[in-house]
Amino acid sequence: MQNKRSLLLYNFYQGLSDRFTSIDRLLSHALPVLAGYLDADRVLFFDWKEEKSIISLKTLCQKGKCYDLQEDVFVDRYSPEVIKLLQDGYMFSPGLDYPAVYVLVKWRSPQGSFEALASGRRDRSRYGVIRVERFKKNKPFTQSEIESLIALCRELSSKINMTEIDHYNTSQLQRAQALNDLARVFATSIRLRDSLIEILKSIQKSFYFDRTSLYLVDPKTNELQEAYSADLSGEVKEIDITANLSKNFTSYCDSDYGICPAVKGSDIVLTIPLTLQTKNLGWMVFDNMLSRMPIATEDMLSLKQFSAQIALAIDNARLFEKVQELSNYDELTKLALRRFFNENLSQEIYRSKRFNLTLSLILMDIDYFKTINDTYGHLLGDEALKEVSGVILNSLRQTDLPCRYGGDEIVIMLPRTTGEEAKSIAKRLSEKVSAIKLNPKYTGGADIKLSISQGIAVFPYDTEDQSELIKRADEALYYVKQHGRGFWALYGDVKDGRIK
Ligand code: GH3
Ligand code: MG
Repeated sequence: MQNKRSLLLYNFYQGLSDRFTSIDRLLSHALPVLAGYLDADRVLFFDWKEEKSIISLKTLCQKGKCYDLQEDVFVDRYSPEVIKLLQDGYMFSPGLDYPAVYVLVKWRSPQGSFEALASGRRDRSRYGVIRVERFKKNKPFTQSEIESLIALCRELSSKINMTEIDHYNTSQLQRAQALNDLARVFATSIRLRDSLIEILKSIQKSFYFDRTSLYLVDPKTNELQEAYSADLSGEVKEIDITANLSKNFTSYCDSDYGICPAVKGSDIVLTIPLTLQTKNLGWMVFDNMLSRMPIATEDMLSLKQFSAQIALAIDNARLFEKVQELSNYDELTKLALRRFFNENLSQEIYRSKRFNLTLSLILMDIDYFKTINDTYGHLLGDEALKEVSGVILNSLRQTDLPCRYGGDEIVIMLPRTTGEEAKSIAKRLSEKVSAIKLNPKYTGGADIKLSISQGIAVFPYDTEDQSELIKRADEALYYVKQHGRGFWALYGDVKDGRIK
């Protein structure tokens, strides 16, 4: 008997020298040995959640096997029994009709509990309670058995402490990795959509939530703009924002910490607002709705820290897109600039080749623009350019792309458009331009009639080459300029002499 107990004690200490990745694993080793040593039928471990005044049953070990459980029991911290437990480190169970003893386990959490943090408590002590039961044998615990139990639980406490620190360090490392990933997002400063996908992927890679979602709002209107979510595998999908989404993300927000459980009191769903100074950019929602695993306090705090960086990354990407847009479009006319146009034209020509589609190009130039400038001044010239561009922008399809090609030269790409269709578009544009009434502020009351000359080339009939296509449209335009201006001509017609 004595030999068996010595062996159990040896196993207990030997086992504790191992490294445990979680407290659960540590308990699964230590509690059955403890039960064997004390000849107990059952050992239970409770996590003491002081702020909630509950002890929460986590592990139950019986016949050498341990089970994870979830059951909360209310405790009154100021009851005489609990005060005795805190003072002496143990107490006998008051309500049971068989021998059972409670022993206190105490350690320091590297992070403290979330509730303690939220209530501003600095103390990082955490308590657990171990209950050892002899319900079959009904044999009371002797004083020396209790003393051994307290000594063993002291050992266990210090091992829990080490395991907590170890776990904390490991997760810190994971978070550093996630931060690294985020830094990469900043450095590459890619498009907003790509940034969001990278952010979600890097969070899922380090935290393993059932789902992480990101909702973006328009900072001006506060309306939902776009949303994405990543599942456990890290796959990111766009969320349909027209669907009926819950708007109550912030209903339970703790303003000091900016951490908002989506459901009050729930620790399986967490919402963090993304704010930059006072601007609200959106929210991130983390949930473990499937596994129902509580989101760890330290995760909440790191995610809170992250959210400031994520907000910055989003703001960065938005700025990048704005700059990109500015560099693609002409400020005066709001038309695309040449580089952007050429990129799009080359893509569209590729597509047209691939799917056997026709594409037309209209190159136009304002007639006698130099004279307008010289007679009425550059301001009026600018105004005329703006008006002509406005007419074009308002007359085209979404897929057409007009571009300010040079001073008063404008080129329009018309995908899936034949030469005949392009001619009728040219006619319409010509009519609309001649109807433009310029602002009398600049004309001094003079009635100025604007007109445009247009040359049209068609892919693939006139040529299959991009720069040749522009050249052919220019040749047709030249013909119009040479033959009286104010009308339009198709390159094919000019070449074959079908036009007078
Ligand atoms: P044509 O009918 O042969 O085209 O005669 P034109 O006078 O229009 O001749 P051209 O197209 O060669 O002249 C273009 C003029 O456009 C010259 C330039 O001063 C003017 N211009 C170019 N960019 C701008 C601009 O941004 N604002 C203003 N006001 N004028 C511009
Ligand atoms: Mg001109």
